[in-house]
Formats: sequence, C-alpha cells, structure tokens
Amino acid sequence: MTVLYWFQNDLRLYDNPVLSAAATVTDDLIPVFILDDTITRPLGGAQRWWLHHSLTALINKLKKQGITLLLRKGNTQQILIELVQKYNVTAIYCHRSYEPAMLQYQQALQRYFAAQEIIMHLFKGYLLTEPSIVKNKSGNYFKVFTPYWKFVSTLITPTQLLPTPNKLSQRSKIVSESLASWQLLPTHPDWSHGFAIWQAGEDAGQQVLQHFIEHGLQNYAEDRDRPDRLGTSRLSPYLHFGEISVRQVWQVIKQAEIAVPGLQKGAQAFLRQLIWREFSYYLLWHFPLFYQKNFRAEFDKFPWLNNQSHLRAWQQGLTGYPIVDAGMRELWATGYLHNRVRMIVASFLTKHLLIHWCEGEKWFWDTLVDADLANNSAGWQWVAGSGADAAPYFRIFNPTLQGEKFDPNGEYVRKWVPELANLPNKYIHDPSQAPRDILTAAGIELGHSYPLPIVNHKIARETALKSYQACRKTNK
Ligand SMILES: Cc1cc2nc3c(=O)[nH]c(=O)nc-3n(C[C@H](O)[C@H](O)[C@H](O)COP(=O)(O)OP(=O)(O)OC[C@H]3O[C@@H](n4cnc5c(N)ncnc54)[C@H](O)[C@@H]3O)c2cc1C
Repeated sequence: MTVLYWFQNDLRLYDNPVLSAAATVTDDLIPVFILDDTITRPLGGAQRWWLHHSLTALINKLKKQGITLLLRKGNTQQILIELVQKYNVTAIYCHRSYEPAMLQYQQALQRYFAAQEIIMHLFKGYLLTEPSIVKNKSGNYFKVFTPYWKFVSTLITPTQLLPTPNKLSQRSKIVSESLASWQLLPTHPDWSHGFAIWQAGEDAGQQVLQHFIEHGLQNYAEDRDRPDRLGTSRLSPYLHFGEISVRQVWQVIKQAEIAVPGLQKGAQAFLRQLIWREFSYYLLWHFPLFYQKNFRAEFDKFPWLNNQSHLRAWQQGLTGYPIVDAGMRELWATGYLHNRVRMIVASFLTKHLLIHWCEGEKWFWDTLVDADLANNSAGWQWVAGSGADAAPYFRIFNPTLQGEKFDPNGEYVRKWVPELANLPNKYIHDPSQAPRDILTAAGIELGHSYPLPIVNHKIARETALKSYQACRKTNK
C-alpha cells in the first residue's frame, strides 16, 4: 500500500502524529511538498527564504532514512491527482489547516478523493485546542482574551510526545523537482545577509527551545518587553512552519515550571503568549476575513490617509523617531522584530501617520520570517483598535517615551540606527531635542544624516483622536 504524506506547515519528523500514523500503515511512504501560490496568499520574500532552508533541512533528514521528499510546484489538486494515479496511492495523510481558505480547499479535496475511494486523513495538531468547540458560558465564541485564556488553559492536557519514526520506508522511485529550481532565495539584489542569524529546520528549532529554557525562561516575564535584550524565545518561525510542535513547546515549558524552582513566573508569562497564538487562530476561525476586514465594523468608516511618502519613510526606517526606525531596519535586515517594537511601529503607522493597518500587515507579511495569517492580523487589528479585545484607539503610544522605557540605554537604537550611536542617552530617543553642539559632537546633522521627525507627536496624537471621534459620530 502506497501512502502520500502531504507536508504543509508541519516540516518536522519529531512529535508529528500524522507522520507517525502514516508510517505505521505503509512500507511505501511518499512525502510530498507542493509550492502553490494560488490557494491562500503567496508567501512573502522573507518566508520564501525560510522555506528554502527549512526544506533543505527536511530533505537531508529524510535522506538519512533513505526517503526522498517529492517537491512539486503548481496546482495542488492537479498534482495530488497526478501523484495518486502515478504511484497508485491508496491514502493521503496531512495536517488540517486552520486558515479558512486552506481548510475549505482540503475538505473539497477530501470529498473528491473519497469519491475515488482514496481516503484523505485530515488530522488536527497545529493548535493546542479546537477553535470550533471552545465556547463561553452562553454558547457563543469568546471575544475577550482573558476569559478565553482561563478557559482554554483548563482544556490542555499532557499527551505522549511521539519520537521521530525510525522505520520510514519507501519503495517507489521518486522523481522530484529540484529545490533550487524554485528560486526561493533572493538574488538581484540579495537582501538576505542579515538572515544569517537564523537556522531553519526542526533540529535548529529544538536547540532554540532548549536554549530558551536554559537562558531565557527565568527572566522572561520582565525581559519579554526589552528589545535591547535577547529575552524572548524566537520560536515564532519554527512554530509557524511547524518545525516544532506547539504541544511539545507547551509541555516542555510546563515540565520546566514544575521541575525547576524559580521558573514559575516566566513559564506562566510564556504560556500566556502561546495562548495568544491560539486566540489569534480562534478569531480567524470565527471571522475568516480577519486579515483584511475590521473585526469592529465601526472602523470601516475611519478616515485613513493615503500618504505614500510617509508609508515609505516608515518602511525604510526614516521617520525621525529612533525606536520606530530601529525596529523597521531590524525587520528589513533580519526578518524579525521584537513584539514590543512591533506594537510601537504598528501604533506609529496607524495612529501617527493614520495609514490603514492593512498596509502595515502587508509589509510585515513580506518581511517577517514568522509572517502568519492569524497572528499578524490579530497583532495589527489589536494595535489599530479595530480588533477583538483590542487596545483602545485613544491609547496612543508616545514613541519617545516607549523608547526611553523599554530601551533605557539606547542600545537597541544604537545597534540599528548607527548614525545616532554617538548621541548621549539623554537624547538618543529624541535627537530633535538635542542642542546643536551635542548633535555636532555626535556627528549628526538632522535633516541630512538622520531625518527630522516626519510628524509632530503632539499634533499627530490630537489629529488621530479627532479622526477617531469623527468616525464614532459617523457610526452613530
Ligand atoms: C503588529 C503585530 C504583528 C505581528 N505579527 C506576527 C506574525 O506575523 N507572526 C507571529 O508569529 N507573531 C506575530 N505577532 C506576535 C508577536 O509579536 C510574535 O509572535 C513574537 O514577537 C515572536 O517572537 P518570539 O517567538 O520570541 O515570542 P515569545 O515571546 O517567545 O512567544 C512565544 C510564542 O508565542 C506566540 N506569541 C507571542 N506573542 C504573541 C502575540 N502577541 N500574538 C500571537 N502569538 C504570540 C508566538 O508563537 C511566539 O513564538 C505580531 C504582533 C504584532 C503587535
């Protein structure tokens, strides 16, 4: 019996219940990965880079067991039908997606193959809980995080983590496309030099988790807000691509919390963040257009501005607000941005520049290695105020104060905005307030070597509040 294992966002062998189940029923396993840009949104540039390296790692891992990963690019349905016929496949195994468009597609395929007497097994496993069954006391879906978090935390029970199947076998002779022919890596220009901080693939994901438990978990509750420290796990791309299973992460952190005194606070704070991931998928599940439509309809009439030069200044890290610019440059250089700085730059775009959150969401989609339909939409809508349980619109971050609070010595800014490196701490987050002689001594000419603020914070704040009030009136 020949079985297809359809890899998607589950690029791992360890604790992969679907792969383990497939391995027990066949001596002819054909793992396949299909690059299809037509079902959901095409991957952004940063994720294409990640995918290339992740698939390289997976190919090598499977090769050690004598298994070839079959790579195909094109229309998923046509390719699966072709493979089923060519290799005389009797069953298909895959993880079920929690992105609504992809799930619909998978279910349609399942019906199609059932009519041909081929079973397509769709397994859960990408999340810790099933969005469809989590309801509040009135039987409705949760729209507020804290009660959701309290409720789902009680539903998650330990399960046996599954070892890497050690008896994968493949009899069919596989003809695969070459990964290089997909041209996932940037060439002209190659903007990926700064991505060398990452190592994709499941072995790297395991090391990142281990390193975080040993060095980050204890102080996570405090350090998670500090972009100048390596205080968070950086597991997000591994979780997104399924290079590590979320239930493994949950369980290992729980075990560490119990076994090691002093880890409780950090572990609780971390597990709460994992539940934000669940909540984002939960919202996307119940509101499938979450990535392009305001969750709160009152925002449909918000008077967003279409200012291309402000949008470009934000994207390039040239707004004149050092913490914003540092964040946007880190994002471009490394494909990653610290959560606190994601909030600051998103607030700046939507509230200081009054540019629609969808513009920011799209930019993040292209530039983040962890770009994720659910988490990205939830993050943007939360900051913009249009989401479920979102930050109220009138809470407008002052980027200078945010910088002073979360990057008190300016180390993060100095790293990513090197032209400000010689400014004293007092002015590092607000160079426009520095006296001329201090600027000269630091080698800075505002408006030339570093931009003047593109908007005035006080005026921008007042304009944003007025726009919001006008929008509320129109909705009455
Ligand atoms: C505007 C905006 C956009 C965002 N876009 C994305 C995105 O595209 N992809 C993405 O994975 N996260 C996104 N986030 C959430 C968060 O910023 C990242 O998950 C986090 O910074 C990843 O770093 P980490 O793995 O070190 O996080 P840690 O602090 O170590 O957290 C562990 C894990 O919990 C999850 N998590 C943490 N914070 C959040 C959160 N606020 N919402 C949902 N899940 C969370 C992630 O899976 C993360 O890997 C966004 C947040 C904002 C404000």
